[in-house]
Amino acid sequence: MLKDATYCLETFGCQMNVLDSQLIEGQLRALGMRPVATAHEADVVLYNTCSVREHAEQKVLSRLGVLRRIKRHQPEKIIGVIGCMAERAGKALLANMPHVDLLCGPGELNQLPALIEEVHARHEQVAALAGSLSRRTEVLQRALEYDSLEALDLARRPAPGQNVLQSYIRVQRGCDKFCTFCVVPFTRGAERSRPPAHIVDEAQMLVDHGAREVTLLGQTVNSYLHQQGGNPVSFAKLLERVHAVEALDRIRFVTSYPADWDEDIFRVMRDFPRICPYLHLPAQSGSDRVLKAMRRPYSAAGYLNLIDKARRYVPEISLAGDFIVGFCGETEQDFQATLELVRRIEYKNLFVFKYSPRPGTVADRRLTDDVPDSVKTRRCNELLAAQLELGLAQKQRLIGRTVEVLVEGFSKAARRAQQAEQERGGEATKDFSRQLVGRSRGDWITVFDGDAGLIGALVNVQLERATPLALQGRVVSVASPPRMPAARRESAHVSLPVLAAG
Ligand code: SF4
Repeated sequence: MLKDATYCLETFGCQMNVLDSQLIEGQLRALGMRPVATAHEADVVLYNTCSVREHAEQKVLSRLGVLRRIKRHQPEKIIGVIGCMAERAGKALLANMPHVDLLCGPGELNQLPALIEEVHARHEQVAALAGSLSRRTEVLQRALEYDSLEALDLARRPAPGQNVLQSYIRVQRGCDKFCTFCVVPFTRGAERSRPPAHIVDEAQMLVDHGAREVTLLGQTVNSYLHQQGGNPVSFAKLLERVHAVEALDRIRFVTSYPADWDEDIFRVMRDFPRICPYLHLPAQSGSDRVLKAMRRPYSAAGYLNLIDKARRYVPEISLAGDFIVGFCGETEQDFQATLELVRRIEYKNLFVFKYSPRPGTVADRRLTDDVPDSVKTRRCNELLAAQLELGLAQKQRLIGRTVEVLVEGFSKAARRAQQAEQERGGEATKDFSRQLVGRSRGDWITVFDGDAGLIGALVNVQLERATPLALQGRVVSVASPPRMPAARRESAHVSLPVLAAG
């Protein structure tokens, strides 16, 4: 059935899901399936889902509601929910939504083609989930499954025409931390670190296909530890090994976990020049009382101390943080402590979320979601407003400097202007149609004028202006020309930043 069938795959959530979707696409294409743009025209519709926030699940439910109507007229269409929401909601989702044909958890993605075949052959709902297992059985089961999931990663090859300029590499699966608000340990299982040789081979393969920047992914990436014949490889050592991959220009990593920090990582960031001076380190709260309720084993002072150390080793480092506002029992005083922490640290950017209880977590079972939604919204807006001011001030301090930027593609404004120009029959306008966008090594979004020939290049940009969203400047020189084929450059565009869960 799969040969010549079409599929539409939509991805929600973190970078881990984006990478999983790339691996799924690799499997489906290898079987002869073709991607199409809309669920309407696809034989197989797949949603790779996220359970970290309620909002992400609501979006999927709304998509499934629309598909219920479509399936009445196209009963052969196969609808699958895969990833964390499939694992969390389990078979109840199939019972409530009879038009959904398959569920596949993030730990069973290697079974996806067989599940689609099974639905097609038997016209029955099918599910591959780890959720029905006890935790102990799960650990044993996961160990057995690990090889096949690792094989899925190792079989990874970019699809023809795929833009791999900036690529993700998984270094770790799962999480053992069990923060009280988080579903990840339940949906993605126990923490396992991939063999370093596999990670290095994958980086080399991506470089051979045109990658210049890789981001190493893990739920708590700095907790990476691989035992190799009694010889432990830490995250700092892994960074050194990836750094040795020739022709790789930039290495980033997300998401880090404050309590497991090893100072050696700062040393490697300082001494190995292709490791970008960027650190995404979620604090979640500035109040020790709330951190304790979240089961985050560090204090606000400990977190600040870590950031001070980061700045001593890597003075240019830019920082991103995650915060949850309105967690169970959060008082105004707790929130003020968070605001104070944000002001002290001066993050480059911040991801702020209103707390929503996730079924099955400790917070959902034992704590009370007692902060009214209006208060959560107000605290969220206050934190974002403070960050806007702090972020703009940091950008203004960069004006006049020249930074190296990896050119990712035309900006959104340029693509809109190019489309409008086409619709007007090529009429020239004073617009943004030549506006390119890229990121500095410190992850600052930077826009400047140039042509498609620069996409994929490393350029030096003199910074002239700052806006709340980006830095603006002009190219003063090309540090390294593009390596990707021209055809791929033309189609390159910038993806939105996405988050890791941890
Ligand atoms: S918030 Fe991060 S560290 Fe905590 S359980 Fe979730 S993934 Fe693990």
